[in-house]
Amino acid sequence: MTENFQNHQIRDRIKIEYRYTMGGQSKFFIEIMKNKKLFGTKCAKCGKTWMPPRINCSDCYKPAEWVELKQTGTIQVSTIVWYTTSAFIKAIPYGIGFIKLDGAETALFQGIFSENLVPSKIKKGKRVKAVFNKEREGKMTDFFFVPEDEYENWISQPEFEGGV
Ligand SMILES: [Zn+2]
Repeated sequence: MTENFQNHQIRDRIKIEYRYTMGGQSKFFIEIMKNKKLFGTKCAKCGKTWMPPRINCSDCYKPAEWVELKQTGTIQVSTIVWYTTSAFIKAIPYGIGFIKLDGAETALFQGIFSENLVPSKIKKGKRVKAVFNKEREGKMTDFFFVPEDEYENWISQPEFEGGV
């Protein structure tokens, strides 16, 4: 190519429709969508309870069984998000963090919303509870966590509801 070459570009758009499967973890998403329940798995051998669920225990590689977990838990670590993708830009600022549900031994990475989002509301050790969207698709964005003392206010809003 010579130095005078100019690449001609045309802006266009590609639309792609596709499906993907949650595979062996499908039950986790179906229970959220249909029943507003949070299911983890418990190793049949060592008894470790995994949340997010693992089909086989990552410690001893034995099959794990589905167990329903409580919808309350404790924040292990968190931060406030100010920069995000287009899918979540209307929600900023919002919290995210690792939440250890009561009865689980591992932590789930999930959104943490608050009426008054300041670091002290979502810091390590704070108690949180799951709130579900009324319209659910079987995705991680179907639910989020809020500080326990805000739970009743959140589920009284028309677009949200409490779990079962
Ligand atoms: Zn195990």
